[in-house]
Amino acid sequence: MDALLDLLNSRPLVNGEEHDALGDPDQGRRWAREHGGKGTLAELALLRQARDLLQDVARGASSPAALAPLLEGVHQIPEVTPAGLRWTLTTPPQARLAVEMVLAWAALEQELPGRLRPCANQECRLFLLDRSRANRARWCSMAVCGNRAKARRHYERTR
Ligand SMILES: [Zn+2]
Repeated sequence: MDALLDLLNSRPLVNGEEHDALGDPDQGRRWAREHGGKGTLAELALLRQARDLLQDVARGASSPAALAPLLEGVHQIPEVTPAGLRWTLTTPPQARLAVEMVLAWAALEQELPGRLRPCANQECRLFLLDRSRANRARWCSMAVCGNRAKARRHYERTR
């Protein structure tokens, strides 16, 4: 889940400028390795593709069916071991990390439906995962976007 949120939030706006953690090959490959990948260029290309599709789906701009091409050639193989049945995921090697991200998203949609959402700040590109009981979180961070919205409301009220 954390890796998925990291991926969704890997292209933030910083002072109005986009900073893409996967944009530069060296930096992107390092990002992939830090998240359990091999750090190849083919893997990075698939990760970027997965991120862009998952962002569209999480914003409600795309149907989850858009993720289907990422799961091509992916299988789960059952194996009976002394400890019981075990499922092994097989993917093309360069696709493993991107596939894991799609599967993490699917698991999240099952366990916490509707809890992954874009930050309500229009000028923010980050996503949040609301684990709270109340399910009313709107900001990626109260300290940044929440306070900014509060200040704006205050300014509009007092004007
Ligand atoms: Zn935000």
